[in-house]
Amino acid sequence: MEDLSRFCCQNSECRDYGQRGGENLSVCGRYGANKQWRMLRCRTCKARFSERKGTPLFGSVLPEETVRSILEHIAEGCGVRETGRLVGVHRDTVMRYSRLAGDHARKVHDELVAVSPRDPGGTVRRKVVVRGKKAKALRSGGPGRRQAGR
Ligand SMILES: [Zn+2]
Repeated sequence: MEDLSRFCCQNSECRDYGQRGGENLSVCGRYGANKQWRMLRCRTCKARFSERKGTPLFGSVLPEETVRSILEHIAEGCGVRETGRLVGVHRDTVMRYSRLAGDHARKVHDELVAVSPRDPGGTVRRKVVVRGKKAKALRSGGPGRRQAGR
C-alpha cells in the first residue's frame, strides 16, 4: 500500500482539492529516468497529476531556480538569514520554503541535482562573489558592515 497521505488533488475544480489524506488518490503510473516519481489519480474528479505537483516546487510564486537555490543553501547548512542574503530573497520566504520542505529538503535537493544538470556551479559562483563582497565589506568596516548584519 502506497502512502499518499501527504498528497492531495491538484485540480482546483475538484471538491477534494487541497484535502490531504490521500483517500481519493491512487497511483496510476510511474515516470522519470528510474521511474522514481508516481503519477497519481484522483477518484473524485478523475484528474491525473504528478506526485511532484504536491512538492514546494509546484505552485510556487518564486521561479524554480530560486526555490532550488534556497533549498540547496539550506541543505548545505546555511542559516535562514545567510540563505536569504545569498539567494536574494526575504528571510521570511526562506523560512516558508524551509518549513514546506521540512525533512524532505535534503531529498528534494538530491532529486533536483539528479534531474537538473543545467547551470552547473551557478550557485557556487554566485556565492563566491557574495563572499568576496562580504569579505571586502568586513575589512573596510563602515556601511558594508551594516549591510552584512542586515
Ligand atoms: Zn480531484
